[in-house]
Amino acid sequence: MSALIDRERDLVVVTGAGGFIGGHLVRYLKEQGFSRIRAVDIKPLHAWYQRFLDVDNVVADLRLREPCYAVTEGARWVFNLAADMGGMGFIETHKADCMISVLINTHMLLASRDNGVERYFYSSSACVYPGYRQRDPNVTALKEEDAYPADAEDGYGWEKLFSERMCRHFTEDYGLTTRVARYHNVYGPYGTFDGGREKAPAAICRKVAQAVLSGKHEIEIWGDGEQTRSFMYIDDCLYGTLRIMESDIAYPINLGSSELVSINRLVDIVEAIAGVKLKRRYRLDAPQGVRGRNSDNTRIRAELGWEPSIPLREGLEKTYRWIYDELAAGRTDSIFTRDFVKAA
Ligand code: NAD
Repeated sequence: MSALIDRERDLVVVTGAGGFIGGHLVRYLKEQGFSRIRAVDIKPLHAWYQRFLDVDNVVADLRLREPCYAVTEGARWVFNLAADMGGMGFIETHKADCMISVLINTHMLLASRDNGVERYFYSSSACVYPGYRQRDPNVTALKEEDAYPADAEDGYGWEKLFSERMCRHFTEDYGLTTRVARYHNVYGPYGTFDGGREKAPAAICRKVAQAVLSGKHEIEIWGDGEQTRSFMYIDDCLYGTLRIMESDIAYPINLGSSELVSINRLVDIVEAIAGVKLKRRYRLDAPQGVRGRNSDNTRIRAELGWEPSIPLREGLEKTYRWIYDELAAGRTDSIFTRDFVKAA
């Protein structure tokens, strides 16, 4: 099916636009020539990580049906990124909150169907993959078909898996074109780095920056540090998201880096960027998630002739510098806000 869209005239909706990936996606779409963008988030405007004054910014709770109908009115494409989420510390302790995000996707799908939206993107997650395939740090990378038989991350992962299936059935039963990417850990500037919702790369950058700034050369690491992951820099995520949206890929597809590292290695890299060596304290009782996880990129390479490839060292350099500057300026995650005024 054609993904024809008039980038100047057609309205594109981005939900979760006050968050990390959504904020970057609005910027990226503007850079790619989309000039009618509606950005939606539940957070008050001053708390959005990035805010563009030439965009239709809407504050709305998308768990509710009516706001979903209002924000999709007249829209041709919808990128639904809104979700109540966070790193391991959050999702292991807020399972009900994570599952309530099913209301967002349900109402956004219904509203998109009824308002004649042409294409709908859903940001799923590597957390849909079963725990039984992720017990060893020397992981076999996860292929799309490995999601079944299902044993997703309790709470957050089950909601993502269910919502993926809802997208599929809206396509099969109602003809709404849906595209689903399974993001594997995304990191970069303009995202959460403290307060409990942050993920490993941001948390480690913050801890190293705090050690540098305070002169207290110690770092706390959750678990034994030998758990492994792959991390995708935001620029790869944005490029992949738009490519998947425009593609004919009708089933959920991995969008992640396949550069596997342990958390200890991640700390080594950030220490090298910061020019310090810290004493490591391991908190074995802290939430750690699965033992090992990596993205198998066979399918995305075959479909798009591309896969995320920005080296971890390069992306962490930019992320660390940004978090360091935020902390050095006395800004914390909960209070900072940015206004970007750019010509559309
Ligand atoms: P984020 O928390 O920074 O952004 C999500 C945004 O959704 C937040 O700004 C939040 O306020 C908003 N939101 C939550 N509930 C809402 C509601 N009821 N109505 C309107 N807005 C609401 O997270 P992110 O890292 O930018 O993630 C974006 C999407 O990508 C999410 O769906 C997430 O599950 C998915 N994802 C992210 C990663 C990652 O590594 N960051 C990995 C896998 C999947």
